[in-house]
Amino acid sequence: MEVAKSNRKHIGLFGRTNVGKSTIFNLITGQDISIISNIKGTTTDIVEKTLELSTLGPVVVFDTAGLDDESILGEERRNKTHKVFERCDIACIIVEDNLWSEPEDQLVDSLNKNKIPFILVFNEKNLGSSAVLRNKLNNSSMVYNSNISRDTFLTEFTDLIKKKLNVDSESEIGIFDDILNSKQTCIFVTPIDSGAPKGRLIMPQVQALRAALDLGIISLVVQPNELENTLNTLKYKPDLVVCDSQAVKFVIEHIPEDIKITTFSILFSRLKGGLYEELKGANTIDSISKTDKILIAEACTHHSQKDDIGTIKIPNLLKKYLGFSPNITHIHGHDFPNDLDTYKLIIHCGACMLTRKEKLNRIAKAKQSEVAITNYGMAISYLNGYLKRTSEIFIK
Ligand code: SF4
Repeated sequence: MEVAKSNRKHIGLFGRTNVGKSTIFNLITGQDISIISNIKGTTTDIVEKTLELSTLGPVVVFDTAGLDDESILGEERRNKTHKVFERCDIACIIVEDNLWSEPEDQLVDSLNKNKIPFILVFNEKNLGSSAVLRNKLNNSSMVYNSNISRDTFLTEFTDLIKKKLNVDSESEIGIFDDILNSKQTCIFVTPIDSGAPKGRLIMPQVQALRAALDLGIISLVVQPNELENTLNTLKYKPDLVVCDSQAVKFVIEHIPEDIKITTFSILFSRLKGGLYEELKGANTIDSISKTDKILIAEACTHHSQKDDIGTIKIPNLLKKYLGFSPNITHIHGHDFPNDLDTYKLIIHCGACMLTRKEKLNRIAKAKQSEVAITNYGMAISYLNGYLKRTSEIFIK
């Protein structure tokens, strides 16, 4: 099974125009994806490639436009390049020989502001030409020149990244940390309705199930209608029920009160970051007035389906709960707006395709703008009156 993009390290290649970003990108990816030319500003849009780097594992690499691009489209290209900051775990600044001035200083400033660690790759046209600058900058760095083989380059490149990210000791929270242990029992309730993708489960369900199996948790997967029968066949109560938010009302009405329950949305909010902000944000629904604006944000672009959760189900539930049709704006994709302060509430999708860093950036932006934020599943649980019950295993 392919590794989800959100679980890959995201590496951005940055630098001024024509310093060899596309050469390095093609070397890393082992393919001629980015056009290489001596004409300034050849990389106009962000080019991205997912791949597996032997010692680093699955990654996404971005090739970006030059930050000093002065052509007519330069500003637009630079803006796109800045947007990549929100998706990067680490940046690689490509420097040519000894050339370091304002564009590089500004880039380092922006990376520091965005808390993105970086390494330097000196593209030496003349051997040894970057030695003085390398010493002066005193940052994790390496040299590339056209005599270096791909294997040699990648070994040094991945080692540098691992050291910078402290990958081996990096610990991110696991889906079931502090909730379930080996040999405990979990029932996953996954409705297969018209909104379910054909022939497969959605990513949060697959990831949660795999994490449970890895931990030796006894895992049962059922549709809502099979839940009661399943409970009756068990000799003991399950330690946890995890259900899809859209089935939360049905599931809670069909399980005893002493069985712990949560939703995939809540588990993923904790995994990706922002659980408590999003739980708090759901309470804002009660104070929405007719003049307030709500932003419904989806991280992916996809065709809206019949009964689409973001465009149909949540607006309908809000209308029923509030007694009027609220003023809703919808956005899709990786471009999360900067002007959030016109909104009272952001209702974000489950963010399963976002990295933890990207999700936390969105939470931080909402906090800076003093806008409440919650997610789809929590909003649905809240609107059904069950958010307290589904989140209480995390409220200590
Ligand atoms: S729109 Fe959001 S919840 Fe849906 S797949 Fe994309 S990231 Fe996941």
